[in-house]
Amino acid sequence: MATTDTNVVLHVDDVHKTFGGLHALADIDLSVREGETLAIIGPNGAGKSTLLNVIVGRLAPTSGAVVFDGQVLTGRQPHQINQLGVARVFQTPEIFPDLSVLQNVMTPAFAKRDGAFRLNFLKALASEREIRELAEETLEDVGLEGHRNTHAGALSRGDKRRMELAMCLIQKPRLLLLDEPTAGMSRHDTNTTIELLQKIKARGMTKIIIEHDMHVVFSLADRISVLAGGRIIVEGLPDDVRGNPKVQEAYLGTVAA
Ligand code: ADP
Ligand code: MG
Repeated sequence: MATTDTNVVLHVDDVHKTFGGLHALADIDLSVREGETLAIIGPNGAGKSTLLNVIVGRLAPTSGAVVFDGQVLTGRQPHQINQLGVARVFQTPEIFPDLSVLQNVMTPAFAKRDGAFRLNFLKALASEREIRELAEETLEDVGLEGHRNTHAGALSRGDKRRMELAMCLIQKPRLLLLDEPTAGMSRHDTNTTIELLQKIKARGMTKIIIEHDMHVVFSLADRISVLAGGRIIVEGLPDDVRGNPKVQEAYLGTVAA
């Protein structure tokens, strides 16, 4: 795949990942362009979370490389990759349950201000007051302003995920990665999340979304890569992927999609 395309934000170049004898990822090549939402779908165990963990530096690929914004990410620590502008919402929420919602959202902003990295508008924010204001705006953005003083641990599952998204958005990332953002949500919370992600998409944020729920995928994706058995078996525009027999075969018996 062309790495010379100037609009490419992320390029995964021939990535392989083995766990013992298991090929969790093989021959993975993909690119995400500026402003695009790429959905990665596939049955359970396909390697989706492994791929996301390789991108964010939680797992080292066995071979291959990940290039973001022209810089090789492979070999860097997760916090360094985050500081370069990659934010992610994991499959299992990672929050501070004993802090308030507002404090949770402020935390990544403090981490940025106090870290030493390039390109950081948050660094210029000198005072806690400014970070607090930014956090409050971000909470409004995700519809959680009424919960600013709630202990994060007491939030519903849907609200926790919204808060996590706010923790990403406050960083103004260049690439947002979402691992099953609607997993375990009610239909109502799922629809609210779709609307929120559509709003973020309209602002031009580049995203990779891993998702099981086909309604979510087809509401958000510009392009879809289908992973099965650690390989990309199909990639293309949503309408091309939808009816592809290979995709239906991969899902057969695993998900009623
Ligand atoms: P998905 O997110 O698509 O459901 P995963 O990426 O979680 O799939 O897993 C892909 C495969 O890799 C599965 O067979 C899983 O059991 C295996 N796997 C994932 N993480 C590890 C690990 N840390 N050690 C060993 N095997 C793993
Ligand atoms: Mg997973």
